[in-house]
Amino acid sequence: MTASDAQTGMVVQAECEAVTAALLQAAAHLAQGQDAEGILRPFCEALVAASSHIRLAWMWLGAPDTAIIRPTYAVGPARGYAESLVLGADEATRSLSPGLRALATGLPVMATVRSDPTFAPWRTEALHYGLEVTASFPFGEAGDGKQGLVAVYADEADYFARLGWAPFVAFQHLAQVALTQAALRERLNTLATLDSLTGLLNRGAMQDALERLHDEARRRHGTYGVLLIDIDRFKLINDGYGHGVGDGVIRDMARVLRRSLRADDRAGRWGGEEFLCLLPGADYRAASDIAERLRAGVMHHPFAVSGGRTLRATVSLGMACFPADGDSVQALLNHADMGLYEAKRDGRNRVARASDRGRNLFATAQQLEGALTSGRVRPAYQPIVALADGRVMAKEALARIITAEGVLEAEHFIEAADRFQWLYRLDHDMICQVIEDCAAARQTQDPPLAYFVNVSTDLLHHAERVQDLLSRITRTTMPCCAGSDAEKPLVIEITERQFLGDFNAVRRTLAPFLAFGIRLALDDFGSGYSSFRYLTELPFAFVKLDKVLVNRVQTAQGRRILRGLQDLARDLGFRTIAEGVEDEACADALAALGVDWAQGHYFASPRFEDAPQGSGKDRDGAAS
Ligand code: C2E
Ligand code: CA
Ligand code: CA
Repeated sequence: MTASDAQTGMVVQAECEAVTAALLQAAAHLAQGQDAEGILRPFCEALVAASSHIRLAWMWLGAPDTAIIRPTYAVGPARGYAESLVLGADEATRSLSPGLRALATGLPVMATVRSDPTFAPWRTEALHYGLEVTASFPFGEAGDGKQGLVAVYADEADYFARLGWAPFVAFQHLAQVALTQAALRERLNTLATLDSLTGLLNRGAMQDALERLHDEARRRHGTYGVLLIDIDRFKLINDGYGHGVGDGVIRDMARVLRRSLRADDRAGRWGGEEFLCLLPGADYRAASDIAERLRAGVMHHPFAVSGGRTLRATVSLGMACFPADGDSVQALLNHADMGLYEAKRDGRNRVARASDRGRNLFATAQQLEGALTSGRVRPAYQPIVALADGRVMAKEALARIITAEGVLEAEHFIEAADRFQWLYRLDHDMICQVIEDCAAARQTQDPPLAYFVNVSTDLLHHAERVQDLLSRITRTTMPCCAGSDAEKPLVIEITERQFLGDFNAVRRTLAPFLAFGIRLALDDFGSGYSSFRYLTELPFAFVKLDKVLVNRVQTAQGRRILRGLQDLARDLGFRTIAEGVEDEACADALAALGVDWAQGHYFASPRFEDAPQGSGKDRDGAAS
């Protein structure tokens, strides 16, 4: 070995070490590469950084059947060469290119620029950039994922021959493993974001997409629309044709939606029979047009049943637009939901944007939510007096929101609470406070008063809250109650205007309360249609006569109805309470009919417990 050979050997050794070290360092970051591009780029950069002989590294990523390949990323002093490079554009380069051969065989391919005949089409250009040799490394993702290619160019024809393949091939294998992992991660991700029935994005993925769209629109001062779509009377389809057909309709519906949307719009499954569409860039006009097209598209689409038969289905759509309908994702979804509710209410198979009234309801619901969270919902109490002697027998707790401007009465927020499903929280919160007040007051009350609380059926369907209430009641109030064990001071008012649904279920929910001695009152009796059914289905102790009926006591017909109800109630063993008594004449007429108790502005208006309470007029005051 000559001295110069030894020197050359050392140079090669040093070069090899530098390249290996650079590749190892790039390999350390492989696992963090998010996608294929993120994995292969550092490979190119490491090679160019490792040696001044490596003048260019470029990469390409694409579908396996891509006919024409152009580098998607290039680094190195000779990257100008990659800028105009095209592989596979014509027959000659398709069969000759070393890169394409590497892709076809799955093996690394080396080619010298001057002597390799397959390099002929690019020779002049490559030499112009000082490139003497190239090595191409193919990559492939798992399954039918992308294919990739990394091509490296050096300025000495024997560069790769002298260094040997080993470091490159080792790195290629590492990168391949990372690519496979990335592709599998991506696939899992896709599976986690897709709804299995329709193949549309699922709710979580749609929520993410909506948030991204929202951020983007805010940044760019843009617009977008959201459509909330619900299949009308889907339960009838499911019950009538079976779940298989129901699923088929949902699947088909997804297809109709996809077909009717623009390229950039997105559709997702939002719930059972509910879909959400995102319309980037759409203003109110555009969103209405698309919504209308969707509605008509569904209406004219024959949905397949078995045996070649078809059925017709319709959808209702709620629409909201950014920024007109709110500046948060939640506000837009709520507006779309409100619109959908109104579309259903107004007869289905239509598109609606929340009305002003709907918007107000939404604003009120938000106000209530804030008040509940910050403890600004408080019970005001209205005394209930015995008509016979004017003594206060009980109090009804009525919810109030305390605001900076004053006190908001329940009638202003109950509908909003109901519509946005806050009622059960409101009731729970109220009952907890009433239990505390009742416990505190019982030390001094003689005789002890009954506390009436209003309960929505919504609460009765939240078993865990009912359970929680019951344990609070047994812990807090009731141990200190005087009098008979059978009757506890709490009375639950259920209004007949609320649809109770399954009486058996409600009876089951209420059973522990009743067993404990809590009594039931039927509220607003005479204001609805199902009054008598309620009386027979649940064991009420009190019947509260609705104020509209009560105020007709001065008319002959009203008096006749009230007398009938009073007699019936007495026969059935209910105690009657007249609501909304506003004057003396009314109180007298009710007393003459034998109504037991009464409440109303005539006796006292609802007040907070810590403020001085109206004690109720005595009998003389009420009757004279
Ligand atoms: P309700 O249970 O029938 O309550 C009686 C309503 O009549 C109360 O209105 C009360 O302030 C009002 N009122 C009292 N005396 C008179 C009177 O002499 N004349 C007239 N015209 N009205 C009188 P408020 O407090 O606005 O409550 C409205 C409704 O909201 C209640 O009707 C009840 O159904 C519901 N509500 C109130 N608090 C709650 C609650 O905590 N939970 C639930 N679920 N509903 C509640
Ligand atoms: Ca009530
Ligand atoms: Ca009532």
